[in-house]
Amino acid sequence: MRILVLILLLPSSVLAQREAFTVGTVVAQAGRVASGTIEVPAGPDEGTQIPISIFHGRNPGPVIAFVAGTHGYEYAPILALQTMRSRIDPQSLAGTVIFVHVANMPSFLKRTVYYSPIDGKNLNRSFPGRKDGTSSERIAHALTTEIIAKSDYVIDIHCGDGNESLRPYSYWINTGNSRIDEAGRQLALAFGLDHIVVDRGRPTRFGIPVEYRDHPRQTGIDRGIGVSWPVGSGIHPQD
Ligand SMILES: [Zn+2]
Repeated sequence: MRILVLILLLPSSVLAQREAFTVGTVVAQAGRVASGTIEVPAGPDEGTQIPISIFHGRNPGPVIAFVAGTHGYEYAPILALQTMRSRIDPQSLAGTVIFVHVANMPSFLKRTVYYSPIDGKNLNRSFPGRKDGTSSERIAHALTTEIIAKSDYVIDIHCGDGNESLRPYSYWINTGNSRIDEAGRQLALAFGLDHIVVDRGRPTRFGIPVEYRDHPRQTGIDRGIGVSWPVGSGIHPQD
């Protein structure tokens, strides 16, 4: 009874407080926006940083991550997140939104198409990554542990790379897991693009499309979260 009285006497602002949300070196309090980086330490090659923002809603809800710049020369998703920044109000938000502004800073800074200028690897084929691997593998590991593992939904945004001109579309990946497939379907429809590639024809192994084993989408699917893969346009083997 005494405990009950104590709780009733607490101001409502204390009772309503949520825990802060942490990604990398960034800590966002409830109802606030925080920006900073995920540090990728040096390994066999040089280290790098991944710039992020966290919009931690005042009220509880799901966590959704938007990942731009997996291919660093694909600027449209990077610019889209800059445009979206001012449209998210954490005071009225239920849940948490994470922006990965540029996943692949080495590629962004050197303007390389598909492949890292450091290790020559495609980050989009390096998931879930390795903590002790080369640059692309360590970036993938950081995104897996800091972003994908902390999210309920992941939107991995691409567009035509430096050598491509593509039409807007989104992939809907069929995994055979009805819960994940329905979440992916809803995400693909929510984008409102007039073309959706329904992806169910790839060779599988243990029920998983083989070609996706090293994609960020597959890393999310392996962890049971909804994944969407909108592309600024068209189909290309490297996207
Ligand atoms: Zn891409």
